Amino acid sequence: MLTSGAWLCRVCWKPNRPQDTTCYKCKSPRGLTPDEAAEAVKAIDARKAIPEPVPDWVLALPVTIFRSYGKVWVRGGFGLLAVLALEVFAAVTDIDWYVVTVGFAVGLMVAGFLAAEVSEGMRNRETWSFVVGIALSAVAVIGSVTAFSIFAPDLVNPNAIRWGSVVVFGGAGVAAGIGLFLVLTRRDGRGPDPDA
Ligand SMILES: [Zn+2]
Repeated sequence: MLTSGAWLCRVCWKPNRPQDTTCYKCKSPRGLTPDEAAEAVKAIDARKAIPEPVPDWVLALPVTIFRSYGKVWVRGGFGLLAVLALEVFAAVTDIDWYVVTVGFAVGLMVAGFLAAEVSEGMRNRETWSFVVGIALSAVAVIGSVTAFSIFAPDLVNPNAIRWGSVVVFGGAGVAAGIGLFLVLTRRDGRGPDPDA
C-alpha cells in the first residue's frame, strides 16, 4: 500500500511515509546506496548478536518506586520543618528535640533528592544508581523505624512499624537489586552501551 511519495527502506524494506527522513523501523536514513544499505544490514545483524539491554518494563518498577520516594521524602522533610516551627511556637525548651527534628528533616530531604537522582540513573541503566538505591533502602528501613520510635513511640505497634518498613523499603531494595543484577549480566562483554 504505497501512497505517492512514500519510500521503501533499503535496509529492512519497510514502507515509510513521504515526510520521514529516516526509516520508522530500523532508523536507516532515506536514499541509501545499495552498498551503504548492505553495510547497515551488517551493522544491524552485529547488534542483534550482542545481548539486548535490560528492557524498560523491568526497570519501570524501581524507577517508579524511587521517583515516588524522592517526592514523598522531600515533602516529608518540609513537613518536619513545619513541626519544627510548631515546637518553636510551643516553646519547647529541650534542645535535643530541635536537633532531632532538624536532623530528620535534612536527612529526609537529602535522601529525597538522592532518590530522585537514583530514579533518573536507573532509567539510564547506570550501575551506580542501583547500588545507591539498595543502600538508600537499607537506610530508609533504619530511618523509618528510628523516626517512629522517636516521634510516635506509642502511636502504633513497634513490630508493625518494623515489619512495615522492612516490607516497603526492603521491597524497593529488592527491586533495585534485581535491576542491578540485570544491568550487570546483560552488559557482560559488551563494553560501553552503543545506544548511550
Ligand atoms: Zn528500515
